[in-house]
Amino acid sequence: MTTPPTHADVPGRFGPYGGQYVPETLMPCLRELEAVWLAARTDPAFLAELAELHADYSGRPTPLYRARRFEAACGGKARVWLKREDLNHTGAHKINNCLGQVLLAKRMGKARLIAETGAGQHGVATATVAALAGLRCTVYMGQVDMQRQEPNVQRMRLLGAEVVPVLSGARTLKDATSEAIRDWVTNVADSHYIIGSTVGPHPYPTMVRDFQSVIGIEARRQVLEKEGRLPDVAIACVGGGSNAAGLFAGFVDDPVALYGVEAGGSSLGHSAALALGTPGVLHGSYSYLLQDDDGQVVPAHSIAAGLDYPGVGPEHSFLKDTGRVTYDKVDDAEALAAFGDLCRLEGIIPALESSHALAFCRRLLGDEAACAQLRAARAAGPDAGPLVVVVNLSGRGDKDMHGDAGAHGAAATDGNGGDHGQAR
Ligand SMILES: *Cc1c(COP(=O)(O)O)cnc(C)c1O
Repeated sequence: MTTPPTHADVPGRFGPYGGQYVPETLMPCLRELEAVWLAARTDPAFLAELAELHADYSGRPTPLYRARRFEAACGGKARVWLKREDLNHTGAHKINNCLGQVLLAKRMGKARLIAETGAGQHGVATATVAALAGLRCTVYMGQVDMQRQEPNVQRMRLLGAEVVPVLSGARTLKDATSEAIRDWVTNVADSHYIIGSTVGPHPYPTMVRDFQSVIGIEARRQVLEKEGRLPDVAIACVGGGSNAAGLFAGFVDDPVALYGVEAGGSSLGHSAALALGTPGVLHGSYSYLLQDDDGQVVPAHSIAAGLDYPGVGPEHSFLKDTGRVTYDKVDDAEALAAFGDLCRLEGIIPALESSHALAFCRRLLGDEAACAQLRAARAAGPDAGPLVVVVNLSGRGDKDMHGDAGAHGAAATDGNGGDHGQAR
C-alpha cells in the first residue's frame, strides 16, 4: 500500500483532491493570484492592514461564549463553548475571507469584484468589502435563493452591488457559481472573483482556509484561557467547508476530535457530498460531490441556503479519507429544532447553517457510548472532568426568520425535551 501524498507534496492538491480544472484563459490569473497571496501572507504591511480591519471594522476577536442553558439541554455532562462568528460585521464568518481577498484584489489593481452567493451572506460580505475598497461589484444569485433570502438581496443593493438573478438549473448556488465563473472568464483583466468558500481551483481552497483560520487560532487561545486546556471536541457545519476549515485549522495538530456536519436535508433531497457523494470535478476542482451514474451533478437540497451546494472543498475530501475529521449529517428538522433551542435557551438566533452544528452537538452529547469513547481517548484521561466542546456559530439567523425557521422553528422543538416554553 502506498500512502497518499500529503498537502505539502503537490501545491493545490490534498491527496488526490483539488487541482485547477479551468479554461486556459484563467490560468494566468490563478497564477497571479497565487503569487500575490503567497507574498502577502508573510508581508508585515499586509498582515497589519488585515489585522486592523479585523479589529476595527469586523469586531474581532469574536467572543468564545459558554452556552450554559444549551449545555444543560444537551444533558449537562459537557461544557459547550460557542465561537461567536455571528457577531462579525455582516453577521457571519464570510467577512474574514472577503477582507483578505479584497486586499489582494487591490494589490492586483482590479477595479471590480465578482461573487456568487447562496444564503446571501457571501454576497453581502463581498458587497461590503467592495464598498470599503471603492470597487464595483456584481453578485450572482440563484432566483430561488433571492426569494428565500430577500433581506440580503436588499442589503447588497444598498451597499451598491449589482445583484444578477440566475435562472438556469435549480436556480441555487451551483448555478450562480457557474454564472460567476463565466463572467470571470470574460472580464478577467479588471475583475477579481471572490470565491466564498474553500472550493474552486487552487489557490482558493488553501487561501480561503488561510483567511478563515483566524477562527480556529482565536478559539484555541480562548479555550486555553478559559478552560486551561484544549477542548475534546470541535464541531462546525460544512457547506463548501470554509468555517469548518477555519475552526479546524486551530486544532488539527492537537488531540482534538473534529466533526464536520453536512446538511441531511429532507425527503426533497440533501447536500451531504462527503457522506453520500462520490469524487468528481465541479467548479474547477476534484472533490466529493453529488452526481448520478453519468456524472451529472445532482441538485442539492437544504433548508439552509448556505449549505445548499452539491460539492465540498477538496481538503475536507482528503480529511474524510484520512479519517482525521469525522463527517456526519443533520437533517432539516433536527436543524430547526436546534435553531429553536438556541433562540429560547440562550437568546441567540443562530443561522440555519450553524444550527446543523448545534444539532449535531446535542446528538453527540446524548450518545453515551460516543461520549465514553471521547473521554477515554483524551490525553488527560476519562476522569478529567466534563467533556469540553467548541461549536462554531458561523452566523446569525436574522436572515432566516421570515422563512421556514420563523414559521416552524418553534413547533419543531416540541417533544425535543428541554425546559423552554412556546416560541412566539
Ligand atoms: C455560507 C455559510 C455557511 C457555509 O459555508 P462554509 O464555507 O461551509 O462555511 C455556514 N454558515 C453560515 C452562517 C454561512 O453564511
